[in-house]
Amino acid sequence: MLKNIESIVIVGGGTAGWMTAAYLSKAFKKNMQITLVESSNLTTIGVGEATFSTIKLFFDFLGLQESEWMPKCQATYKMAIKFVNWNAQRRHFYHPFQRYEAVDGFDVSEWWLKMKKEQDAFDYSCFLIPMLCDHQKSPRYFNGQVFDDKVQKLFNQEENQEKNVLSNLKVQYPYAYHFDAKLLAQFLKDYAMHRGVKLIVDDVVEVGLREDGSIDCIQAKNYGEISGDLFIDCTGFSGLLINQALDEPFISFSESLLCDHAIAMQIPSDMAKHGINPYTTATALSSGWVWNIPLYGRAGTGYVYSSAFISKEAAEEEFRKHLGEAADNCKALHIKMRIGRNRNSWVKNCVAIGLSSGFVEPLESTGIFFIQHGIEELVSHFPDKSFNEDLIRSYNQAIANCIDGVRDFLTLHYYASDRADTPFWKATKHDILVSEELRERLRLWKSRLPNNKNINQNYHGFESYSYSVMLLGLNYMPETSLPILDLIDDHNAVSVFNEIKQKAEYLSATLPSQYNYLNYLVQSS
Ligand code: FAD
Repeated sequence: MLKNIESIVIVGGGTAGWMTAAYLSKAFKKNMQITLVESSNLTTIGVGEATFSTIKLFFDFLGLQESEWMPKCQATYKMAIKFVNWNAQRRHFYHPFQRYEAVDGFDVSEWWLKMKKEQDAFDYSCFLIPMLCDHQKSPRYFNGQVFDDKVQKLFNQEENQEKNVLSNLKVQYPYAYHFDAKLLAQFLKDYAMHRGVKLIVDDVVEVGLREDGSIDCIQAKNYGEISGDLFIDCTGFSGLLINQALDEPFISFSESLLCDHAIAMQIPSDMAKHGINPYTTATALSSGWVWNIPLYGRAGTGYVYSSAFISKEAAEEEFRKHLGEAADNCKALHIKMRIGRNRNSWVKNCVAIGLSSGFVEPLESTGIFFIQHGIEELVSHFPDKSFNEDLIRSYNQAIANCIDGVRDFLTLHYYASDRADTPFWKATKHDILVSEELRERLRLWKSRLPNNKNINQNYHGFESYSYSVMLLGLNYMPETSLPILDLIDDHNAVSVFNEIKQKAEYLSATLPSQYNYLNYLVQSS
């Protein structure tokens, strides 16, 4: 009997459903029957518009050039997240997609701690990207060349090579994207259907189980029975298959991460007048924070807040006050967020991907990264009809490690900040659960900044430089610089800081603005 999986049924047509359908249709070429069922009555979440730098691998895997998809999805470049009002001094800082240079074996950040003067902000001293963000630059020249030489070299080598996957990515891509979530889902729908994915528009009303507890078929209201070998649950927070039908428990992170609601809004933007920021902004407010995501033609914004500290009405009032006139006549969408993850995201013959699997607040734009990671791990663990338990266990471990790693990283964003001026910000210092592993690391990081040997070793997308940036930005500083640096001549460090400054100035003077570059991309597509 043929043991190979022959048919996959994806339930849900949001970002997760269509990313999965597009990726699998490419991965399996024509050897798999893929069906996607989406409801015309239940809307998609429709937010989720800022991404993580590894998203480029996803588009590379699909074989898509930026000029093919970016203009169709109102996409822009994102080189960093700008954190505003996250420390007691209210000094902003950037978390860029850029690793530190090393000087005599030590990150420039360690040298910065030793040599800093009052006026030297760590992010502008150690990275190129903050100055490019201030000047609203594109990461590419008009000829397509990326500003970062190391990445450009890799792009050149990659042209005729097998595409990378998350687990073997060697470089830090210098940018991610912002895009319109609905336009992207539509784009990927066209892509997937062109490659043979069958679409059924209907509501799933029942899930039929076999005696062993696996899924036999789903019942759609009008279409009737739909059967398959493997079912992928992309039904969002409702977890229709994994939680409701298979009864898999959901582990809440509410003790560590207090924000549980969001108010989302789309606001117009005058790009010709104000340009387009090549970064996401995260501005802290009284009981959470506000995202601002600049797209080509409009901006997406939202207040992520904790309902234990502010009511829905007061949150909307504070949010509108923060936005000012820009929000007049704009409709607010209130969303309750399910923060945490399934105990297991793969159970029997059902794999949950997207919000049905797990979600943490979008402070580091990891929702779509979790989707990409879930899909890639599924392909690398792809089973036959015997659904080997060891494969399933290994997949579940990888997913749990990744989401838990990001949970701890976000917990650090609150716990390590010295802001404590409102009941919410006070609670983030005294009342939240901080894992023992993170506590131990935070103790060490009072003596030295994080490096790749002392951060969480499980793959979760973040490298040590990200931890270091957040600690420096949040004012969680080591008390002294590394003693060994007193024993090394600092002339190499002085040269590197000068080079960074000169290169940032050169790039700021020569790169096109993001607005001009995207206009060029739109016109030439
Ligand atoms: P959904 O968009 O909810 O889609 C669910 C689908 O399932 C829909 O098509 C629905 O019709 C279908 N469905 C449900 N029930 C049935 C049924 N019975 N029958 C048939 N179909 C059904 N991620 C980021 O990476 N960056 C961000 O900046 C970001 N911001 C976010 C902000 C907020 C406030 C929230 C809540 C999330 C954010 N995310 C972000 C996460 C991101 O939005 C999601 O990861 C992404 O949109 C995927 O959603 P989904 O497809 O899993 O679910």
